[in-house]
Amino acid sequence: MLTVQKFGGSSVADAGRIRRVADIIAETKAAGSDVVAVLSAAGDTTDELADRAAEISKFPPHRELDALLSTGELQSVALMSMQLERLGVPALSLSGRQAGIITDENHGNAKILNIKTKRIKDELARGKVVVVAGFQGIDCSDNITTLGRGGSDTTAVALAAALKADKCEIYSDVDGIYTADPRLVTGAKKLSEIDYTDMLNLARGGSQVMHSRAVEIAMKYNMEVRMLSSFVKTEGTYMRRLVRRPELCGITRDKAENKISLVGEAADINCLSVAAALLKESGIFPISAEAREGVCSLTTEDRFVLPALQLLHKHFFD
Ligand code: ASP
Ligand code: MG
Repeated sequence: MLTVQKFGGSSVADAGRIRRVADIIAETKAAGSDVVAVLSAAGDTTDELADRAAEISKFPPHRELDALLSTGELQSVALMSMQLERLGVPALSLSGRQAGIITDENHGNAKILNIKTKRIKDELARGKVVVVAGFQGIDCSDNITTLGRGGSDTTAVALAAALKADKCEIYSDVDGIYTADPRLVTGAKKLSEIDYTDMLNLARGGSQVMHSRAVEIAMKYNMEVRMLSSFVKTEGTYMRRLVRRPELCGITRDKAENKISLVGEAADINCLSVAAALLKESGIFPISAEAREGVCSLTTEDRFVLPALQLLHKHFFD
């Protein structure tokens, strides 16, 4: 039995949280599963590293920026392995390169091409918990690459697929997928399961719960992924292929584009016109509107995005 567990930046933000996560890993191991743990950089480390680069150069060479950004995750994995060893759980940390993660050359948004799993398999066979730095790999010329912001999810799902893991669990500070971001919308409801297609549309629509490339890989390999919290014990949300998708499963916003997207099988042109009419009644005039397979989107002025999100959530999900 093999479990791949990924822990996000807030789950490893300080020593106390690293201890808590190490306990989760140790419990999984004690329950009889091998564990590959994938970690993000602690808290705001990646942003801070990017800020430091910006202090030196407005246009740093992409190769060097990736070399710098990759160090955040390296700190997390070394600290986690130390804590696991302290608990008496044999563990070792691996960089993306050591873990055999080969990507294309697209610095800052590299795509995983292949994973040479031998090292990880050897260490697992020695009884170790393998703690892998997320968000990074190397290209064919042995340069460090990063996978794009939020890319540790992709490392985890790609490893789970390559290792044919029995379970893939993504731990973060939210305990699953909600009908809307619960920090922005009161009354958002947790989903017990979600189909890959809907999750992909949510991720592409700006929901930051999971990296869209991670969803694509899970979908391709039919890998069930459980999303749960490292702080509270709940069932979380399972992402898998559903025989029947719900008519509407969520609403999300893309902050950069002032765009709101309704996602689900019934998110079509009719749904879009209902949404647009509702907004107009409240004096919110959409700037553009679009319906595609399973997702309909509206853009509004910046100041209307949050009220529109709340209004539409109330109408469609309450
Ligand atoms: N540390 C990277 C980021 O902040 C990758 C990740 O957290 O998944 O985007
Ligand atoms: Mg993330």
